[in-house]
Order: sequence, then structure tokens, then C-alpha cells
Amino acid sequence: MSIRSHSLRWLVIYLLSSSVLAAAPDGVVAVSHPAAAAAGARMLTQGGNAIDAAAAVQFALNVVEPQSSGIGGGGFMLIHLAKTGKTVIVDSREQAPAAATADMFAPEGLAMPFPLASTRGLAVGVPGTLRGVDTALRRWGTMKLAATMAPAIELAERGFRVNRFMAEDIAHDGGRTQLQPETAATFRPGGVPLAEGDWLVQRDLAKTLKLIAARGPDAFYRGPIAHAIVKAQQRTRNEIGATGQGRMTLSDLAHYQVVIRQPLIGHYRGWTLAGMPPPSSGGLTTIQILKLLERFPLGDAAQGYGFGSPKTIHVMIEAMRLAFADRAVWIGDAAAVPMPQTGLLHPGYLATRSALINPDSRMVTPQAGTPPPWDTSLAARPHASRTHLESPHTTHFSIVDRWGNMVSYTSTIENTWGSGITVPGYGFLLNNELTDFNLTPTADAAKGNPGANDVAPAKRPRSSMAPTLLMKNGKPVAAFGSPGGATIINSVLNVTLNLIDHGMTLQQAIDAPRLSVTHATGPVSCESGARFSVAAQNALRNQGHIGLGEAGTDGCRQSIGSVQAVAMETAPETHNGAADLRREGTVIRVKPAIALPDRRL
Ligand code: GLU
Repeated sequence: MSIRSHSLRWLVIYLLSSSVLAAAPDGVVAVSHPAAAAAGARMLTQGGNAIDAAAAVQFALNVVEPQSSGIGGGGFMLIHLAKTGKTVIVDSREQAPAAATADMFAPEGLAMPFPLASTRGLAVGVPGTLRGVDTALRRWGTMKLAATMAPAIELAERGFRVNRFMAEDIAHDGGRTQLQPETAATFRPGGVPLAEGDWLVQRDLAKTLKLIAARGPDAFYRGPIAHAIVKAQQRTRNEIGATGQGRMTLSDLAHYQVVIRQPLIGHYRGWTLAGMPPPSSGGLTTIQILKLLERFPLGDAAQGYGFGSPKTIHVMIEAMRLAFADRAVWIGDAAAVPMPQTGLLHPGYLATRSALINPDSRMVTPQAGTPPPWDTSLAARPHASRTHLESPHTTHFSIVDRWGNMVSYTSTIENTWGSGITVPGYGFLLNNELTDFNLTPTADAAKGNPGANDVAPAKRPRSSMAPTLLMKNGKPVAAFGSPGGATIINSVLNVTLNLIDHGMTLQQAIDAPRLSVTHATGPVSCESGARFSVAAQNALRNQGHIGLGEAGTDGCRQSIGSVQAVAMETAPETHNGAADLRREGTVIRVKPAIALPDRRL
């Protein structure tokens, strides 16, 4: 199968190409914002590799898409190294402070409501993005940190035009840009929310980025910025007083740990996926769903399957329900709790779980399974833990350089606008990642519940982020991922099925309407589009599927995810990208301009 892009929004930077390099493939960046895409392209034109470009994109996103990601948050950068063929993941997920406790969001046994819990200092995890980017640059980049920060500093200092997506996120902020004076001053100057087309200059942020460029990440983790972060998350608000105060200390910041991880590998119909292991459920749950579906001929219209057919949608829903039942109980930070990761992907276990899917009827709400090596004699199955409805935010971008190194990077401050707390004088938002933990503790030894995602000191909250690399015959084919909280898993799944089962091009696979279920009880979310017809929805309603609204109406009204992807063709060797219209997705192709040394890693 060939994966080609036909994005309408290509920005092509053709510089003078020397005949020596005429055959060299182009570098490609696919990012949710054009100015951040341009920052990455600039590194590639200057001779940088995919890791240099990723650093520049991430810093620029902090300026032009600050509601989604930035140095106050965390993320997972999957890197494929062309020379060795190895894939690694830089885990810069936020960590709970040393003083965190399992019941901190439920001081009197009752969980704080999510809007309250997530806008307090208590929700702020120790940020990892800057350490993560710096670590990646030092190990695999070719440029200095300061060089990769230059485009972001220019954007913060000179300003940029607010796009429709930022304007909408301010208008529908759930109060988050209004709670703290510094956040309001930036995004609602004089009390007026910024609108599309307004010019936004962020002087404090420019100052912060310059300070980091000059003094390195220690300015953030040990220096003046660390002091300001600790103070900002200690602010109290009247409703919950001191119980809402953040517990992060200078020591927590100084001891933040980036972890280099091996990807989780899964196989589906002869293809290989390299995905995100715990603390994310992203790779594991996506691979589980694929394996549960592998016995169904999803691409075969002659057998009643094919894209958008009720039969295909039905088995997808059932597989999602089963995998999300497992996710809710078993997946958390494997460094902090025992996790049956091997068991969850064991072929025997998956076959038993897949056998629960009846192609003709809807199953009753499935429980989590008992994957080996868990004691199957336990009478009671652990109850699923529930956090809040995980939010549709964050950002994903993908890059391939002319040497074939690839980056697939999902980055977040959790909710749109994070905790809503801007660090005074420094102009960046702090995350609310700790509300990705269970808000009430679930560990119960008698019931065999490990409390996989309960809060604990230095632990990383369970994520759904799923930066993914798709490979065939050991060669990378495409890199992609998505924002969207728990729906990330299903966006990645939809795109994978579209490529493999439905034979779509990369752009078609991204454009096609998506389907998502993130809970065993199974309410269905889906996007409108001719291929999820009302007739198909009626067939699903008749089977008892919920969440689709009234019979005869179009119940597919959600917008799910924002996938940015790059792809490699092997013969002839070219690189492509595809972006998502659900945000201002932009693909920039960079032609080699100057003779450069081989920078395959
Ligand atoms: N906190 C979310 C997670 O890690 C961020 C992803 C998102 O909301 O899109 O899963």
C-alpha cells in the first residue's frame, strides 16, 4: 500500500537545490498551527534534523497555541532514528510532587468537582516539557537549545495574529482565562476576549524564553522561574482554601526526571505499530483494540463490512468498550504500581476477550478482564476507576527530515488553558495534569484492585497520548498522533484502520469521520459525514448502542481529535505529510538547499 498525501494546504518552501542533492528527499513538518510549522521548517532549512525541528515547533506552540501545550506541561516525543532503525520515546510527563497523597483531591472522602480540582495549584504536576526537549536535543539533535528557541522568541516578542481556534478557545474557556489576573490580562486585555485577527504580543513569555535560551533549563528547574512556579501554584482561592494549594516544592522541580523509554510494539495484519507504553494507555489500548478487531474482515464490503457500514462500526464499538474496561482498572504508571502489561497483550487473553464480541448483537457492559498473571480465583473483579471526562485538548505534530529521522510528538498542559494559572511575570500557563489521576483512591487489595492510577508521590498520571509510528517490513511508513484526551486512542485507531483496512491515502485517513467510545458502558461519539449515514446510525440504535440521539436523526455531531502525520514512500524515497482541518493543520515541505553531511541518527 502506498501512503500519499494530497493536502490542499501545502506550503512548499523550494530553495535552490543543488544537482548533487536533487535526489535527496524533502523534510516535512505537519503541525496544528502554521507559525509553529514554519518554526520547524526553519530548522530544517538551516540544516537541522527532525529533533531540532521538533524543539522549535514545541517552543513556538507555547507562543501561538499556549492553551494546548508548553513549558508548563509535559508530553511524549517518539523518535525514529534512520541509521540504526531504532525507535525511542522521550517521556516528559509531569510528575506528582513528593508531598502528593492518594486522597488529595478527595479531602473528606468526596472527590472535588473536576472544574474546581483542575483550576487549583493542587492539580499542577511538575512540568517536564523543557527537560524533555533539552534531553532530546542533547542526545539526538544537532542544534543548540537557544537556536531552536529563536522563532518562538520572535513570535512572542513581535506578536502574531490570533486564529479562529484560539479565539474560540478563549470564548469557550469554561472560565479558565478569567480566574487568574495574569491569564486574563493576556487573553482578555481590558476584560475583552481576544478575537480572531487580533494581534497578540507576549512580553513576559518572550523574557522567559530568552532567559532559558541564555541560561539553559536550570533557569526553569532550579533558578528564578522555579521560585515563581512554586509560588504561583501555592495561591489559594476561597472556595476550597488551603486544600486547593499546590504541593510542589523547589526540590520537586530540581529532581524532575525525564525517562527514555522503548516503544510498545504491536502487530496488525502484517503491519507493525510502535506506540507509547505506560504511563500512557495510548499505545497499549490502541494495540488491544486492533488485536480484538483483527479477526473481523473490516475492509471487506462483500461480507457486509467496509468503512462506515453498521457491521464495521458495531465491532469497533464493542472492541473499544472491552479495551476501555481494561484500561480503567489496569493501566497506570508501571514504575509505581504492578501492571499486567504483558498479560493485557497476551494472544490467549486477547482471543478470550475478542470472543466476547458478537458481530450481530451488543454485549452487556463488559467488566475489566483478569489478564495473566493476575489471580483469576479472585471472586470480585476490581471496579473501574473513573477520572473526569478526559478533555479534548493538547496538540500533536509529526516531522520527517531529509535523512529519514522521524518525530511523532504529543504535548499537553491537559485541559485547554491547563490550570488557568499563568506564572506571574513569566507568561506561561501551568498544567492541571494531576487531575488525570483517579480523583478518589481505588486501591483495594481484597478486591485485587492495584489502584493503578491513584495519586502517589513522584508518580506520573495515566495518559492517553499516543504518538505512533507505523511500519511495514521493518521500515517506517507513517508517524501520527492526536490530541483529544481518551479519544486520542480512537483517533489513532481510526486512522490506522483507514490506512490498513480501508486502503485510504494518509490525507483521506485523516479527513474521514471518526468514531469513539471511551467507556465500557459505551456511549458512542462520532463525526458527521456522509459515510456515517443516518441509516447506519439507525441500525446501531436498533442494536442498543447509545449516545446517538433520536432515531432518524444524525447523532454524529462531535469533532474528534486533530491528527498531524508524515509519511515515507520507499520507492522512490520521498517524504509526505498530511494535516487536519479540525485545527489549522499545516504541512510544510522543505527542499534541501545546501550540501549537508549525512545526519542519519
Ligand atoms: N491529559 C491528557 C492525557 O494525557 C492530555 C491529552 C488530551 O487531553 O488531549 O491523556
